[in-house]
Amino acid sequence: MTPTHSAALRAALDYAAHGWPVLPLARATDGRCSCGWPADRCTSPGKHPTNPGGCRNATTDPDTIHGWWRRWPTANVGIATGPASGLAVLDVDGEPGRDSLADLEAAHGALPGTVTALTARGCHLLYRWPGGLGNGAGTYGRGLDHRGDGGYIVAPPSVHPTGHVYQWLTADGSDPRPWAHPLPDWPAHVLRTGARAAAPRPVVVPLHRPGDGPLAGLVRVVLNAQPGTRNNAVNWASYRAGEHIARGRLAPEAAASALLAAAAAVGLPEHEAVRTIASGLRSAGAA
Ligand SMILES: [Zn+2]
Repeated sequence: MTPTHSAALRAALDYAAHGWPVLPLARATDGRCSCGWPADRCTSPGKHPTNPGGCRNATTDPDTIHGWWRRWPTANVGIATGPASGLAVLDVDGEPGRDSLADLEAAHGALPGTVTALTARGCHLLYRWPGGLGNGAGTYGRGLDHRGDGGYIVAPPSVHPTGHVYQWLTADGSDPRPWAHPLPDWPAHVLRTGARAAAPRPVVVPLHRPGDGPLAGLVRVVLNAQPGTRNNAVNWASYRAGEHIARGRLAPEAAASALLAAAAAVGLPEHEAVRTIASGLRSAGAA
């Protein structure tokens, strides 16, 4: 279902009120970008800024935002990354991105569970901006892009040219606002330039113990989740497990039973855990 235009404006105002500067983006429908070009001739259909200055002029000012959506009522919504919002984002794009991330996690352990948006072909993983991080494509592997200073992401409920609606990954019934859960630090121990060439370093935080495969890391994300975030952690871990299952790197039964055991260990009722795990796996196309 395509969200109404006012849904993008409402989300933009919400993000801005939280202190995340926003900007209006093009929207592409029926093979045509709102900039006027056919989608196959536009450089970034449905994703490029429509405001002068783009993400440099992203704002938290409600009047400016209302003005932009009066001028471009169908605009998608972008969130500026980097120092303005404090966000650093790992963009896992398509099969190559999922494969690259699975390789990294096999070598270094699972990324910390975090706020995640489902995109048309993958996901955006949001972390705290570490300072100094800019933008790049493929730095950590094919299909893995990152956004920091001078960048932005296409945010929910924007509509991709394929018709896919960007959405926040949430456990059933949990608060869909992305700031309902604290953002972990950018996982620099995994995502560093040349990470795949360098020898794995010993890591002191047990959450990121390297070399023990994706499932153990995902289970620890659940075990280490704070009260109030546990259902979300189970959902996140299940979504990520689903990605590994879809790559043939995890057996579905092993993943589901390990996550169920972890959920039970942190006190989640079984029926709730079963539902959340199924929902997470489904979101990744693995169930
Ligand atoms: Zn365009």
